[in-house]
Amino acid sequence: MKNEKKVRVRFAPSPTGELHIGGLRTALNNFLFARKNGGEFLLRVEDTDRKRFVEGSMERMIEDLRWAGLEFDGEPYIQSERLEIYKEYVQRLINEGKAYYCFCTPERLEQMREKQQQEKLAPKYDRHCLNLSTEDVKKKIENGEKYVVRFKIPEGTTIFEDLVFGKVEVKNENIDDQVLLKTDGFPTYHLAVVVDDYLMKISHIFRGAEWLPSTPKHVLLYQAFGWEKEMPEFVHMANILNKSKKKLSKREGSVSVADFRAQGYPASALVNFIALLGWNPKTQQEIFTMQELIEQFDVSKMNRAGGVFDIDRLNWISAQHIKRMSVEEIYIQALPFLEKKEYYKKWNAVQSALSAEEKEKYIKKIITIEKDRLEKFDQIGENNQFLFSDKIQISPDDLRWKDSSNEDTRNNLKKSLQVLENISESDWTLDNIEKKLLETAGDKRGDLLFPLRSALTGEKKSPSPFEVSWVLGKDTSIKRILSALDFLV
Ligand code: GLU
Repeated sequence: MKNEKKVRVRFAPSPTGELHIGGLRTALNNFLFARKNGGEFLLRVEDTDRKRFVEGSMERMIEDLRWAGLEFDGEPYIQSERLEIYKEYVQRLINEGKAYYCFCTPERLEQMREKQQQEKLAPKYDRHCLNLSTEDVKKKIENGEKYVVRFKIPEGTTIFEDLVFGKVEVKNENIDDQVLLKTDGFPTYHLAVVVDDYLMKISHIFRGAEWLPSTPKHVLLYQAFGWEKEMPEFVHMANILNKSKKKLSKREGSVSVADFRAQGYPASALVNFIALLGWNPKTQQEIFTMQELIEQFDVSKMNRAGGVFDIDRLNWISAQHIKRMSVEEIYIQALPFLEKKEYYKKWNAVQSALSAEEKEKYIKKIITIEKDRLEKFDQIGENNQFLFSDKIQISPDDLRWKDSSNEDTRNNLKKSLQVLENISESDWTLDNIEKKLLETAGDKRGDLLFPLRSALTGEKKSPSPFEVSWVLGKDTSIKRILSALDFLV
C-alpha cells in the first residue's frame, strides 16, 4: 500500500433515517480494518442536507452501531458544527480562481437543462457565471442575490486507483462544475467530505460503490487544494444484491438494522452475515466471531461482484451463533423477547408461587433443550407452548402407539410413572431420566416413550420425553401422566 500513514478511517452516515444493512456493512468494514491495523475508527455525522435531516436518526444509528459491537473512537465530528471551516476553504479556492460564484436562478437552470435534453446533451452547468467580474459579484451579493459557489473543473483527465475496482479514468469534460457551497451556506457533500477527510487525517475510505462516480470530483478537489499526498486510499464496496441479483432496496421489506434487532437476531450473527457480503475469507470457515473477523479481514479478499442478501443464510448463521452461546448468555438476551409473548405472560401470572430464581431456572431449562434449534431469540418457547400452560389437551388417539390398545398404553404409562416416581428430586437430571426410561423401555422404545411424550406435551411433535419431563420437573410430569391415565379408562 502506498499509504504508510497511521490508519484512520471513518463511518460517515447522513442522519436521514435508519441504519440499513448497507450502512452497517460500511461501518463494519471500516471498523474491522481499523482494529486489524491498530488504527482509529471515527464517526462523522454528515448532516449538511437540512431538507433530509431526521430528528433522532443519529442517536438511533449510534445505538445500532453499539449493539453491533462497533464502538467508535473519540467524539463524533458533526458537519453542521463546522460550517465556518468549509467556508474558509471555499474562499481559498475562489481566491485562487479554482471556484466561482454562480447566481443562476432555479428557473434558468431548469431552462438550460430542458434545452440540453432537447439537444441530447449530457446535463451540465453551462458556466454562465464563470466570467463575472469581481465588481459584478460584489454588487450582486450586496443586492442580496442568492448564490452558490461552483468548482471550476480543470481540463484534462482524472485518474485514481481504487483498491477493489482498480484503475478509474474519467475525462474531466464529462464532469459538471460541482456546487461546493449551497445557497443556505451549507457545503455540499463533495466539499465537506474532502475537507473533513483531509482535516481528520483519514487514511482509507471504505464506502458503498454508489460513491465511486463521485470520487473523481473528490480527487480533483484534493489536487485543487494541493493535498495530493494526503489523499486517502479509496476502497469502494460492491452493492449488496437481492436474490434476483438486483441492488437491494428499502422496498424489499426489512433492511434496517433495527428490524433485525427487533426480530431477535444476535448481533454477532448479523455482523458475521454482513461481513461475508462482498468479502470472501477464501477458506471453508463460515462462522466468525468479531475477533476472528478482525484477524482475517483483508482488502485483497474483497469482491467486485456484489454479495447476495439471502435471509436463509442469515437464519442458518444465526442458528450457529445461538448454538455456540451459553445458556446464561441466551437467557439475558432472549428474556426481553419472551416477556412480550402472551404464553409467557399467562404462565408468569399463574406461577405466582414460584420465586424469581425458580422461574429463571425453569426458563434456562427450556433454553437448554431448545438452543440447538433456535434461529432467533424471539422463537424461545414458541414451538413448545405446552411448557407454559397448565392444561394441555390430550386425546386417547394421540396417546396410543401404532395399533396398541388402551390397556397397553395405560400399562406403559404406568411403567413410566413408576420410573419417574423413583427418581429423587436431587437425581432429576436429564441424563438420569433418559437412562432410567431407556432401561425400562428395552427394545420397546415406541411403546413406552410415545404415550409418555404425548401425555407430557399434548402435541404430535415436541422434544423428547426425557427433555420435556426434565424441564417440567417431577411433580408436573407425574400430574400430567396421571391425568392422561384418566383419559384411557
Ligand atoms: N454521507 C455519505 C453517506 O451517507 C458518506 C459517503 C462517504 O463515505 O463518503 O453514505
